[in-house]
Amino acid sequence: MRMTELKKTDPEIYNAIVKEMEREREKIVLIASENYASRAVLEAQGSVLTNKYAEGYPNKRYYGGCEYADVVESLAIERAKKLFGVEHVNVQPHSGTQANMAVYFSVLKPKDKILGLSLSHGGHLSHGVQVNFSGMLYKTYSYGVDKKTGLIDYDEVRKLAKKHKPKILLAGASAYSRTIDFKALSGTAKEVGAYFLADIAHIAGLVATGNHPSPVPYADFVTTTTHKTLRGPRGGMVMCRAEYAKAIDKMIFPGLQGGPLMHVVAAKAVALKEAMMPEFKRYQLQIIRNARELSEALLSRGFNIISGGTDTHLMLIDLTGKNITGKEAESALDLAGLTVNKNSIPHDTLPATITSGIRIGTPIVTSRNMKEHEMVIIADLISRVINEPHNITVINQVRDRVKELCRKFPVYGDIEI
Ligand SMILES: *Cc1c(COP(=O)(O)O)cnc(C)c1O
Repeated sequence: MRMTELKKTDPEIYNAIVKEMEREREKIVLIASENYASRAVLEAQGSVLTNKYAEGYPNKRYYGGCEYADVVESLAIERAKKLFGVEHVNVQPHSGTQANMAVYFSVLKPKDKILGLSLSHGGHLSHGVQVNFSGMLYKTYSYGVDKKTGLIDYDEVRKLAKKHKPKILLAGASAYSRTIDFKALSGTAKEVGAYFLADIAHIAGLVATGNHPSPVPYADFVTTTTHKTLRGPRGGMVMCRAEYAKAIDKMIFPGLQGGPLMHVVAAKAVALKEAMMPEFKRYQLQIIRNARELSEALLSRGFNIISGGTDTHLMLIDLTGKNITGKEAESALDLAGLTVNKNSIPHDTLPATITSGIRIGTPIVTSRNMKEHEMVIIADLISRVINEPHNITVINQVRDRVKELCRKFPVYGDIEI
């Protein structure tokens, strides 16, 4: 991985990559949607497969010379099918949003109705937000979480589904910390004659290892990203029952995309193989244990966590009692070497550019081998910064402590760039 040529020919890009490596090594990154892919994944993604056009599918390509592309894509498909126990997989979507687009385009016409979790209550842009294609093309309705408990109110979902009669009922979230009852939602979808789409972008790694119930037995379609808890390259996948296989494949290519990113498909295959190893199962369990420990340590330091805790890899912190906005918290924490993202909380009174919350996740710190003990230290550092965001001495002390922790839990030590 030594970038000797890049260093010579394009020092501006080379230096930015060196700095990015430093940032990833020397900060404690708590962004719930990110992860650090393995060296093997990075190697596959940085390979000559980026050169290859492979429009079509294994053994049905529109280009010559696809024999090795076929090997790679067939392995990715087989591994995904085995890992998730699903009948059909398309590994070509360039992103999670494109995976969702493929499902919508396969079964909806413009102006059809979809019902999903509201963005401001933890949903995702591609689930029907007005500024996204999903909100532009379809008539969208959303359900929320209960104001008191912070939990999805399944009775409310059922009421809304009966009232609006959506053609797709969506499950899945970007900032919801509790187990999602896919079975209950699929029952509601069936009752109103809707397709049931489960978007497991965030929790794919947990689902793959049995650390979150799988939607596969209940859903018509399951979409995911490959770069979040699954710890693969940036990209998406669509999984579905065999009856929808043809429609999905046709919609991804030639419907929505041209040539697949074969280097990314190769890296997806590598990540899927890693995900079948016993170590990965232990890793996912540790992600959850770390999140639970971190949430408890934050609660004991006077933080308010939506729904009171977490069952997954993330938590949403309500800062309204802390006299600081999400935006201010994000920048003070980043100065101190702790990277998080501001995030709207349910019923937020501040706009999405400011917010009253931050979202915190443990996939990356767990990839670095940190355990419960370090989570308590991190909670303490977060608390010190949030309580005194303008105190430079505190920020400096915390940053030193962060550097020390990062040195103790090094990452990408085997990569020289
Ligand atoms: C991250 C995410 C996506 C989309 O992923 P992109 O690859 O950024 O397009 C879709 N759905 C959910 C629930 C997500 O969290």
